[in-house]
Amino acid sequence: MEELLKQIENYKAEINDFAAANAEELENFRIKFLGTKGIVKNVMGEMRNVPNESKKEFGQILNAFKIAAEEKYESLKEANSSLTTHHSPLTDLSLPGDPITAGTRHPLSIVRNQMVSIFKRLGFAVAEGPEIEDDWHNFTALNLPENHPARDMQDTFYLHQNPDYLLRTHTSSVQARIMEKQKPPIRIICPGRVYRNETISARAHCFFHQAEGLYVDENVSFADLKQTLYFFVQEMFGKDAKIRFRPSYFPFTEPSAEMDISCTVCGGKGCSLCKHTGWVEILGCGMVHPKMLDNFGIDSNKYTGFAFGMGVERICQLKYRVNDLRLYSQNDIRFLRQFTGAV
Ligand SMILES: [Zn+2]
Repeated sequence: MEELLKQIENYKAEINDFAAANAEELENFRIKFLGTKGIVKNVMGEMRNVPNESKKEFGQILNAFKIAAEEKYESLKEANSSLTTHHSPLTDLSLPGDPITAGTRHPLSIVRNQMVSIFKRLGFAVAEGPEIEDDWHNFTALNLPENHPARDMQDTFYLHQNPDYLLRTHTSSVQARIMEKQKPPIRIICPGRVYRNETISARAHCFFHQAEGLYVDENVSFADLKQTLYFFVQEMFGKDAKIRFRPSYFPFTEPSAEMDISCTVCGGKGCSLCKHTGWVEILGCGMVHPKMLDNFGIDSNKYTGFAFGMGVERICQLKYRVNDLRLYSQNDIRFLRQFTGAV
């Protein structure tokens, strides 16, 4: 015991006097004192031979010894490394830096941004709203009667009933919120995520993205609707794209129409994408139902408006030939990397 204490004092003196001339000497110091078979470990091992009543006192001495060795090593290492960084010829500052890999935009973001930018040029402003909606903004205000199939529990994710809160099934709820607080003229485009209780497959998903437009002012006619959408299609798909309208039904528009564009693959000759018709459906539209304007206190005798809505995934499918909806949310980097450079 006495002998061991004496030995520790000797080691301490050696540590104090030690000075490393280079990295190799410092490393030798580390191995000698702090290595797995080093002196510190060795001395610590002597602890088991110490009688119980002296264990506490001896433990403190050993601990101080260990800290002294570690601190000496750390301070020498720091001094040594500042020496090497300042004087070592091994650092070549002219070497090129590590390359930074640029990420890619998600295809849906690319298409949504393109859509928004086209409508912005026509004076449409972007409007956004909450994804958790109440019944009034998602259904009732939009002239969706209580027995409408869209309200079916099969289609809608309800979060709470009486009062009803749900995940919005379309971005038309944003139109409702804007008409509630803004007087005409209203000219908005509402991009956003919507939810339906659907079985996930290549052609259906429980969430997808829409962009809906609304224009309410005096003397807005169906001709304005046609020209606006024709401009959009030509900007999105090129000057050769043609459009056609087919009569349809939506509760919030009257008259209502679905719009097709000439097939982006075959140009109208017929192929599997257009099911050999030469046309593909891209959106629904119509003149805003007067009852909807009245719901928001907008005089339907003075004002008219048009609305349209389309799926961002659908436009993306036609533009980039993505044929499986699931690809958009699987985060498969092989899919996403194909959009490198697209903006
Ligand atoms: Zn075709």
